[in-house]
Amino acid sequence: MGWALITGASSGIGAEIAKSLAQRRYHLILVARREQRLQELADSLSAQFGISTQVIAADISQPAARQQLKATLKELGITPEFLVNNAGIGHVGQFEQTDMTDYQRTIDLNCTALTALIADYLPAMQQNRQGYILNISSVSGLMPGPNLALYHASKNFVQALSEALWQENKAKGVVVTASCPGPTESEFHQHAGSEKIGVFNRIALMSARKVAEQAVDATLKGKRRVVHGWLNRIMVANEVLLPRRIFLAITALVMSSST
Ligand code: NDP
Repeated sequence: MGWALITGASSGIGAEIAKSLAQRRYHLILVARREQRLQELADSLSAQFGISTQVIAADISQPAARQQLKATLKELGITPEFLVNNAGIGHVGQFEQTDMTDYQRTIDLNCTALTALIADYLPAMQQNRQGYILNISSVSGLMPGPNLALYHASKNFVQALSEALWQENKAKGVVVTASCPGPTESEFHQHAGSEKIGVFNRIALMSARKVAEQAVDATLKGKRRVVHGWLNRIMVANEVLLPRRIFLAITALVMSSST
């Protein structure tokens, strides 16, 4: 098996994707800022599955760190054939409650870093006519989201880019899949500043392991996108069926119960 590069592998969905790909005998490049967590995961997966691992501690919202990551892999002679753009952040609350520095960081991580990593590794995948890119979008990527507005906008970017690249690359041997989880057990909500878990989130909550398994399966099957969980699929269907004005009011209600 080849190498898989996973961003945001130190917790939540990213750590579970690492386990899922290790089980399928991919060698792993684990990227996030918390090095010790990555190292512990790498050690346990290489012991369990006999795979090779590389741990790279990096803040990939920074261009210099992304350059360094690329240079390190080049030096090691590693070209990923499976890229997982998973690292992502968001800030819950009305737009004006978060400052521009935090918004910039969100855009730099959720959108710019994801785009840059695709630009770094897609050409080699196309040349080899073999490769997988799994972008962790969100159900947020399929709709606007009052009280989490910029995060939804950033995931709309991820979604649109992923689906267009799926079409561009399907005849080139490269699969680009957008995974759209709804509320998932991880550290995301704690970092995003949600103080309570609303009713919708409680009912829809999925384990990071289940989301990861479904996302990897969908990618290996060449799917354009996967919406995880029946409640999230209903939510997405309503976005199409309901007038936008009503849909926005419902979304605002659901979100305000989680802030
Ligand atoms: P977690 O907070 O558990 O994981 C986020 C990961 O991203 C961590 O490994 C974190 O590691 C890493 N990360 C954050 N900032 C950076 C950075 N600047 N550079 C490198 N790595 C970074 O949340 P999830 O597992 O839930 O999030 C994974 C993805 O799933 C995100 O894209 C999120 O938007 C998406 N998602 C989550 C949902 C949920 O309800 N949980 C729902 C829908 C989508 P470290 O801090 O060590 O850098």
